[in-house]
Amino acid sequence: MITITGKGVYGAVAIGMISVFNRSEVPVKRAHVQDLEAEKARFEAAKIKTIEELGEIYEKALKEVGEANAQIFEIHQMMVEDDDYNESIINIIETQKVTAEYAVAVTADNFAAMFAAMDDSYMQARAADVKDISNRIIKNLTSSKESEAVSDENVIICADDLAPSETVSLDKDKVLAFVTAHGSSNSHTAILARTMNIPAVIGTGDEMLENVSDGVMAIVDGYTGKVYIDPDDATMEAMKEKQNKDTERKKLLLELKGKENVTIDGTKINIYANIGGPQDIGAVLLNDAGGIGLFRSEFLYLENEDYPNEEEQFRAYRKVIESMAGKKVIIRTLDIGADKQVDYFGLGKEDNPALGFRAIRICLKRPEIFKTQLRALYRASVYGNLGIMFPMITSVSEIEKIMEIVKEVKEELTEQGLEYSGNVELGIMIETPAAAVISDKLAPLVDFFSVGTNDLTQYTLAVDRQNPNLEDFCDTHHEAILRLIEFAAKSAHEHGAWIGICGELGADITLTETFLRMGIDELSVSPSFVLPVRDAVRKIDLSK
Ligand code: PEP
Ligand code: MG
Repeated sequence: MITITGKGVYGAVAIGMISVFNRSEVPVKRAHVQDLEAEKARFEAAKIKTIEELGEIYEKALKEVGEANAQIFEIHQMMVEDDDYNESIINIIETQKVTAEYAVAVTADNFAAMFAAMDDSYMQARAADVKDISNRIIKNLTSSKESEAVSDENVIICADDLAPSETVSLDKDKVLAFVTAHGSSNSHTAILARTMNIPAVIGTGDEMLENVSDGVMAIVDGYTGKVYIDPDDATMEAMKEKQNKDTERKKLLLELKGKENVTIDGTKINIYANIGGPQDIGAVLLNDAGGIGLFRSEFLYLENEDYPNEEEQFRAYRKVIESMAGKKVIIRTLDIGADKQVDYFGLGKEDNPALGFRAIRICLKRPEIFKTQLRALYRASVYGNLGIMFPMITSVSEIEKIMEIVKEVKEELTEQGLEYSGNVELGIMIETPAAAVISDKLAPLVDFFSVGTNDLTQYTLAVDRQNPNLEDFCDTHHEAILRLIEFAAKSAHEHGAWIGICGELGADITLTETFLRMGIDELSVSPSFVLPVRDAVRKIDLSK
């Protein structure tokens, strides 16, 4: 078995035979011509044929992937007619007295290099589009045949890269998955794979092509980006199980997508998703979460070698907020320390890191780090519906200090003429017993509570969450924890705040009814738990 890793662009598992996609690319040689007018006419004719073909592909795409995704082929038609592109081809024919196909090939390389050199990743991905249209014109100039992608059987297509028009031309019923050595997750090929629901792994590198051949069995895991060539029995069994679970989940998804989170007696609850960064948004949308209840912003710090600056943070927050299109996005300020250590913070060794210098404690002692994050958050707030929450709170004075810093940040932004939303909700995590016990004092100071049951359990039961030997002592349903949550819910509601749960316990469906009876307003869970929790909510009758 050979395992190859790329980037999964559509989460699903496919098992089947490989078919290597051989593009019947015509090698374009530099050849001279005498009759330049005839050469230009050949180019015109090939151009018209290309535009016609793209029109047909557009119609196919319209039926299979909808108008928004089909539009790329209208854009391709426009690219074929683009003045600069055409001028370059005609110029090369006239000045170098060469064939039209050579002029198109050179122009394609130049334009692709220009796009690839741009800063913007969207523009970089356009290099593939210009190559795609140029190959089609060359094919029409040389009257060579279209590449044959698929045999009669269901197959996993392996290719160096796939152009958008090649992707949409694939027979969806015969393609189990595709794997490409190159390509970016921003490319239209990747976007089309997602829309066509085809499991796909891209950017594996050339190593993949050296290891695949027609008819060999393979497994494509679009979730992890792994491709198993000639899998062993254990991998086959494990992946079949994953595939079955996936099918079950998708069935549930079809039944529950778009439905309300409402009990039989009409009580409604919000079900949001927990994420670690913009890369998780796809899963959030796929699983129909009503918002994001916990964005663990410390992952931005953990992935970096140095403090992420205001711009980097702003871009990540803006992306998440914008992608959620007005739905609530709650971003937690950094929760570094304890089990999440970052060298550049220089925190030093502690005997009891879980009880140490972490989360809000670092932010209050090193306000420059905190202010950078708050500035980025407030600047991103104009792009949607933002809530900010603070971790590891234990006292009223911490909230007062936070509010003072928030005020300073807002004043600075105003002075600098930078916009921010006036509707940002501010909340705290209830994840220490202290916060739960004085929640009646904390609630008047904030808009919402979010219960972090992972830490609340660790601190209430005195069980280190990192220590696997303590499993037997870690009773997550312990009455002490449930009483603390119930009291926090009562405190929140008495003071006009709302309360959610974002720790793992929020996804425990044996407790969903208990939480609803406590009046919990929101449960924020891993994306894949959104629909199972919705399912549980819809089966509960609180009137009984
Ligand atoms: C929690 O403690 O429950 C929580 C959600 O935060 P984290 O797991 O990131 O500590
Ligand atoms: Mg926590």
